[in-house]
Amino acid sequence: MFARFCIWLCVLPLLLVSASAHAVPSRGFDVLHYEVALVPDIAHKRVTGEQTVRFRAEHALRAVTLDSGALKVTAALQGDRALAFAQDEAKVHITLAEPLARGDTASVTIRYHGQPPYGLEFAPERDEVYTIFSTSQWMPSVDAPDERATLALSVTLPAGLLAAGTGRALPVRTLPDGRIEHRWQLETPMPGYVYGFTAGRYHEATQQHGATGLRFLSRERSPGQLQRVFTATGAMLDFFAARAGLPYRGDYQQALVARTIGQEMAGLSLMSERYGQQLLEDPAQTALMAHEAAHQWWGNRVTCAGWEHFWLNEGMANFMTAAYLQQAQGEAAYQAQVTIWRTRLDALRAKGVDHALVYADWSAPTGDDRAVVYQKGAYVLHLLRGEMGEAAFWRGIRAYTQANDGRSVVTADFQRAMETAAGRSLQPFFAQWVYGVG
Ligand SMILES: [Zn+2]
Repeated sequence: MFARFCIWLCVLPLLLVSASAHAVPSRGFDVLHYEVALVPDIAHKRVTGEQTVRFRAEHALRAVTLDSGALKVTAALQGDRALAFAQDEAKVHITLAEPLARGDTASVTIRYHGQPPYGLEFAPERDEVYTIFSTSQWMPSVDAPDERATLALSVTLPAGLLAAGTGRALPVRTLPDGRIEHRWQLETPMPGYVYGFTAGRYHEATQQHGATGLRFLSRERSPGQLQRVFTATGAMLDFFAARAGLPYRGDYQQALVARTIGQEMAGLSLMSERYGQQLLEDPAQTALMAHEAAHQWWGNRVTCAGWEHFWLNEGMANFMTAAYLQQAQGEAAYQAQVTIWRTRLDALRAKGVDHALVYADWSAPTGDDRAVVYQKGAYVLHLLRGEMGEAAFWRGIRAYTQANDGRSVVTADFQRAMETAAGRSLQPFFAQWVYGVG
């Protein structure tokens, strides 16, 4: 079960980026903040939205371009002034009212609607709506993982639904027509692909784990069952915090939704109802939970700067999952994961499709390409652990994570931190296993 999950976990962003993600041209601006008001229509699988994006010009700027998926933009404004805009190839190009000089900030308001083909998932049979990765399918935004901004998110829904979103929950507002506006404030700048929410007719359970509030949601599981499904959450967060050298920040919510392969968002992870059932039947099947929890550090706080360094998110999350299992379930559980990775790598080699972990061509990633990032990536971290020894390896992981908290990283950042911890060059190892084919 874990093998299946770890092949497919979190792969959707790869489908959405251009082949030239390794050579992203300067956007010319830095997004500072998004303020989004969203009205999903669950029955008709539609969404209407209005958002204001605030940004700073990085050089003289006459226009901004945002990813906009399949959304139809109906208006762009600066204050009361209507702006010219055009949409093509899943982007919206907006001409500013006045050219900006380098360092100037401005805000643009965009009105839009659409029927997202993915990214915003509707399950009308459950009265449920939730996001999966492709944020620009429900709010015009920058998809690239090296763009971090704060977010104020509002989602207006019928009464009777519970919701969880990225950021600190603000009090809900009841509108005159009886609908409920759910609101969250994400005060730490984060990459857009970890923005999101889920809402449905959920049961709810909560726990307090030290300073961290835990909340679990599901339509199909009772509050008592939810406590059993997610019983290991606090221990997982403690384990990853110790390995990261960074305490968990804020509250952590996990929801079981209609269909997903597992997704990490900022302070919120989604898994499927089916996975919740599996955990009830076999409480040892915590790998997927652990993988998504590990992303709260490796992926969300320390984020690959471009998808060619995606192994820093996914290989790391898989490796950390195995390290957690090693502590929680024993050495055999860790070695079982290593065997899965090694077996997959052997299969890639036999098929002639193994390649470097740092891999630029993500225009149409195959299952084998994903296996390189997820499975071989984790295996290479296991090998590096052996190469460096326990103390130096974990010291390097802590230094790397602490130094890059809230930053976008490339593989050289990781290598540098590990070499400092090792007290020697690791270039031969990285040349062979990370930049070469091992
Ligand atoms: Zn993942």
